[in-house]
Amino acid sequence: MRVHVVGAGPVGLLLTALLQSAEGCSVHLCEKRRDYTRTRMVQLAPYLVAESVESYRTDSIDGDSVEAIFDPPELEEGLAYRQSIAPDLSALLQGWALGFGPLNSIERSLSDLIDSRGNGVERTAAVVTAEDAMAMLEPGDVLIDATGSRSLLRDHLVPTSGEPAEGTNTVNVRLEYALVITFLYGQPYDCNEYCKYYKNKENPRYKFIPMVSRTHYDGSVSHVTGIVNISAEEYEAMPSRFDGEWLRENAPYVARSMDRFIAEIQQETQGEILGDLEIVRIPLDIYRARNATNRHWLVGGPRDHPFAHSPVFLAGDSAIGSPYFQSISLGFECAMFLARLVAQRDLAVKDMLDRYELYVYKQWLRVYMRSKMIKHNKDLFESLDDPLALLDKLHIY
Ligand SMILES: Cc1cc2nc3c(=O)[nH]c(=O)nc-3n(C[C@H](O)[C@H](O)[C@H](O)COP(=O)(O)OP(=O)(O)OC[C@H]3O[C@@H](n4cnc5c(N)ncnc54)[C@H](O)[C@@H]3O)c2cc1C
Repeated sequence: MRVHVVGAGPVGLLLTALLQSAEGCSVHLCEKRRDYTRTRMVQLAPYLVAESVESYRTDSIDGDSVEAIFDPPELEEGLAYRQSIAPDLSALLQGWALGFGPLNSIERSLSDLIDSRGNGVERTAAVVTAEDAMAMLEPGDVLIDATGSRSLLRDHLVPTSGEPAEGTNTVNVRLEYALVITFLYGQPYDCNEYCKYYKNKENPRYKFIPMVSRTHYDGSVSHVTGIVNISAEEYEAMPSRFDGEWLRENAPYVARSMDRFIAEIQQETQGEILGDLEIVRIPLDIYRARNATNRHWLVGGPRDHPFAHSPVFLAGDSAIGSPYFQSISLGFECAMFLARLVAQRDLAVKDMLDRYELYVYKQWLRVYMRSKMIKHNKDLFESLDDPLALLDKLHIY
């Protein structure tokens, strides 16, 4: 079986590494970038390397949802697959679940691992168009789009007459606009909900919220990533990426809140910020592909189209995207499920597509509920000192 993976970001690379060791499978991996340059610090969820159903469900926000959405045998099969992952790859996953690491080091380690194994992966360095992807497909091949949030094929998965309209296959919910502020701090530092509250006490608006599990003591340096909610107008007026000096000059009211929070940390732990602050402004969206496969082409599309004969899947940010620093873990979950499906050679294509759609939908339910809960908790947190505003946000029955 030949599997074409378009996009060698973390999810496309993980899929390739998983399929590379599947029997009878040859992988063709296409990537447009020449080098991995994204240095932002990311963390993987511990559930990715869980060894039991109980530890898989220990997440404080969505442990119960996992139990409600997934049947026990599904969880057990997923864990059994994880335990069968080749030791070289499994060791990498274990390391990444321990704490922060730069995104490009995840990408480079996966890419190097694939190359060092030396079997079965053909690489193409090129920008792939939707037409190129369709032309690659021979009957019986599998095509996986792992090209990220601006997915190459998401709009092409449902048959239409003429060019597909942009976004028709996407459900998008905008939760908020935020500044993501990252800095290194020269002392061990950790933060729980009490700390978030008291360090923000003098900040009536623009509370600086270090993400739960977003601080990690690494030797003598802590990585701190916090988010500050901003309005749509403020978002529009800011460049996409800037430093602390820009923030202090151009949005002093936001900078004051952030600086107050940092001063409180320094007073407590006597440390210094190492280097400058890195700030990006992003809309925090949660979205999914209504169809994460080409199932409609196989039943109702014109027979002369390449998508009428071969299975096509979206994986990673192509299929689902979520805020609050959980996307890579979600993408890895779906990649593991997909690699397991593709490796089952006796499975009919229709069953493969249906099972993947159902799995992706369940993961969507899980991450949607999780993200809404985090947003709701953040909203309540911002009104803790104002009982009437707080009550306005509560709908008890
Ligand atoms: C500021 C910020 C902080 C984040 N922090 C975290 C975090 O802490 N934890 C977390 O889990 N997630 C985090 N995320 C999200 C995370 O980075 C993404 O979920 C993840 O990178 C998605 O992986 P992916 O492989 O699906 O897609 P991508 O990483 O987008 O990779 C897609 C790949 O496809 C390639 N490609 C695209 N189009 C083509 C084409 N036409 N032809 C050939 N190649 C193509 C691209 O070059 C790229 O290499 C963060 C995101 C942002 C913006």
